[in-house]
Amino acid sequence: DALIVCDNLVRIYQTGTIEVQALQGLDLLVDAGEMIAVVGASGSGKSTLLAVLSGIDAPTAGRVRVGRWDLMAMSAADRVRYRRSMVGFVWQQTSRNLVPYLTAEQNVILPLTFAGVPRRHRRRRAVEILDVLGVGRCAGHLPREMSGGEQQRVAIAVALANSPRVILADEPTGELDVSTSQEVFDALRTANRDVGATVVIVTHDPTVSGQVERTVAIRDGRTSSEVLRARGEDDG
Ligand code: ADP
Ligand code: ADP
Repeated sequence: DALIVCDNLVRIYQTGTIEVQALQGLDLLVDAGEMIAVVGASGSGKSTLLAVLSGIDAPTAGRVRVGRWDLMAMSAADRVRYRRSMVGFVWQQTSRNLVPYLTAEQNVILPLTFAGVPRRHRRRRAVEILDVLGVGRCAGHLPREMSGGEQQRVAIAVALANSPRVILADEPTGELDVSTSQEVFDALRTANRDVGATVVIVTHDPTVSGQVERTVAIRDGRTSSEVLRARGEDDG
């Protein structure tokens, strides 16, 4: 059943007297355990959707629910709890995902520390999750000592550290070449299938959109009626 429900979701940005309707009544249902791609032209509202779902950005109107959390009516304190426990975020820019002077393992330990995980459990959890994503060998490496693909896989490990229900990724392969993109996609697939996270990926990358079960197109702040069909399904 649905883990993410957006119903007539509106987000208006106001800059002086100028209003931008970034989301103009967007409807979206994502089932628990799904992995979807969100595509659309630049400025169509993809990043705004992820910002709302991550709890960074408050919606203006409509309904948006993730699990038991109603993002429309959430106190500041709940917002913090929501962001720590329910969602993990992966940015396009590798430099935005990882603290540059901490090793891969220390980067994964950071959110565990914030979440109050006892010190003796943190290291084991960090090593375990890095191993699952195929970057165990990078545990002691600084970001600059890793390839772009390794950095993104470590970023997925950081996002998964506190076992969130949802992973949100904004162009996670946008700075990578094709073969490295595949490695990062495979890591997201692992997060979905083996770790059990529901995964929403904003992407322009056909490597990503070509391999997920469902692609949702956004146009002018709305889910396009031309929602792309799941692969292999016919139009009936
Ligand atoms: P996309 O990710 O699809 O490129 P965005 O969600 O970034 O689209 O942007 C949707 C629209 O909202 C664009 O017109 C953009 O300029 C505008 N927008 C996004 N964020 C802000 C903001 N913080 N302030 C003002 N306008 C914004
Ligand atoms: P992306 O390339 O991921 O779509 P954007 O370049 O659209 O990202 O936006 C990057 C950041 O700038 C986002 O946090 C977005 O909210 C903000 N932003 C986008 N457009 C505007 C705008 N017109 N005014 C202010 N902030 C904006």
